[in-house]
Amino acid sequence: MTEREQIPMDVVFVGAGPANLAAALHLKNEIKKHDELVDKGFKQAKKIGDLEIAIVEKGSFVGAHILSGAVMDPIAIRELMPDFLAQGCPVDTVVTEDAAWYLTPTRRFVAPITPPPLKNKGKYIVSLSKICEWLGEKCEEAGINIFPEFPASEVLYDENDAVIGIRTGDKGIGKDGEKKANYEPGVDLLAKVTVLGEGSRGSLAKQLMARVGLMEGKEPQVFSLGVKELWEVPEGNFAAGMVVHTLGFPSDTKTYGGGWIYGLKNNVVSIGYVTGLDYVDPSIDPHAEFQKFKTHPKVAEILAGGKMIKYGAKSINAGGYYTMPKLYADGVLLVGDSASFLNGQRIKGIHTAMKSGMLAAETIIGAFEHEDYSSTALKHFEEKVNLSWIYDELHPVRNFHGAFQKGRWSGLINTGLQFMTRGLAWGFMPREHHVAGHERMAKLADGAIDQNRYADLKFDKELTFDKVTDVFYGAVAHDEDQPSHLHVLDTEICATRCVEEYDNPCQRFCPAAVYEMEKDDLTGRKELKINFSNCIHCKTCDVADPYQIINWVSPEGGGGPNYKGM
Ligand code: SF4
Repeated sequence: MTEREQIPMDVVFVGAGPANLAAALHLKNEIKKHDELVDKGFKQAKKIGDLEIAIVEKGSFVGAHILSGAVMDPIAIRELMPDFLAQGCPVDTVVTEDAAWYLTPTRRFVAPITPPPLKNKGKYIVSLSKICEWLGEKCEEAGINIFPEFPASEVLYDENDAVIGIRTGDKGIGKDGEKKANYEPGVDLLAKVTVLGEGSRGSLAKQLMARVGLMEGKEPQVFSLGVKELWEVPEGNFAAGMVVHTLGFPSDTKTYGGGWIYGLKNNVVSIGYVTGLDYVDPSIDPHAEFQKFKTHPKVAEILAGGKMIKYGAKSINAGGYYTMPKLYADGVLLVGDSASFLNGQRIKGIHTAMKSGMLAAETIIGAFEHEDYSSTALKHFEEKVNLSWIYDELHPVRNFHGAFQKGRWSGLINTGLQFMTRGLAWGFMPREHHVAGHERMAKLADGAIDQNRYADLKFDKELTFDKVTDVFYGAVAHDEDQPSHLHVLDTEICATRCVEEYDNPCQRFCPAAVYEMEKDDLTGRKELKINFSNCIHCKTCDVADPYQIINWVSPEGGGGPNYKGM
């Protein structure tokens, strides 16, 4: 039995993303206000005092694993810190112009009017990694403990299944499973309230949802994968402050997908492509979709003469309101992308993530005031969400992704009706139930595969890049002498059923060339090879695997991509 240090805290936040950083900072600020009001006699309540607050983060620094498009709606950060600009929030550029393009393989149609959900004038193009790094500094100044390189490995429960904290991963285990000279066991961080804000498909959130049934009565979560590069382009190719969203090429009409091109300062362009991880054809490769997107003449002309400087990919929890889990259980709250707070129609989740964190903080204050950390106290979080602008924003678009599961045209018609009626139309239209992406993938025998999908795609290493080259630009690093953090529960399925039924789609849906099927000279059959050190922590494999036998767990702390500036 491993001896583990137990560190008592009051509140532990798992993941240093926008939701948890905003939550922790808001918690500190609101406690101060609460206690001042009590001191002055303006509030009849118990003082809360100094809470021990910790944020654990698996990346080597705050922001290392943070990736987003990203245009930030400042509504939440303004509530958190009205003078965020004066305080030095590192926004990059104000959006000055919007455009929506429909692309055919050779032509571009510019929408005469930008659809209102895609209007971004006055909002901010940011590096979310930089914003989180800055918010992390603000948290530390406020006295919040941040522990980078501390991956949370499991949720801790008491005998009644109430969450009592988290365990961090062990360090110094070799690839053979034996302890190395630098072995250090993980610690148990005990907390009255634990907040899971791990981002899309959080590994602890997944454990918790299964154990205490947070998805009961909810529609399954659905995900998309955003693949992104940063480019430096020649002066004049694309204006800073310009925001373009695209629909059409290269996605087929059955597959949810679209591109973005954002102009940052210093002639840097953020370009990326989102592919729904609920695609039907197992031959789809989201990284190849993105590379193909860049070959469109109107996109390629923006990048002409430029150079790619950074690469990354991240899954997005895209289903919205109907796919949100129950947001609380005894001792625990779920915030941000872990809990499906993203607005799929606006392709925005930073503001809703931050606001969810702030509402979680206000709920936690109530819990400490009454010394009740059970569901009875924490359920107020869900009420606060439903009384906030998050509900006003997410409820009217609740059918958005579900409608797109029926194809692009159904999605667009539904979106138009929804927009004209503020979602009322969906009260009398058939409910668009979400189906989990892995259940939608067709088998080869169904004839759904388009083998020529990428026949014309060549990786010229100027405009288009293969996965291994791209991964180099993600600055990924893992200690290779550790067990793989990609647990494939039954590799026999990979070598037998999956070969025949899906042609091993992991080789295509992973944007980092982690999965390969290699011929074994002895058996003569293809066996799964996992290049785990390439992993950029996008969680796609955990989501998209049709047999659901891939379990992503945190590798040793500090390992993974370095998205500084992304
Ligand atoms: Fe993403 Fe999984 Fe590939 Fe890692 S192994 S990059 S989590 S798909």
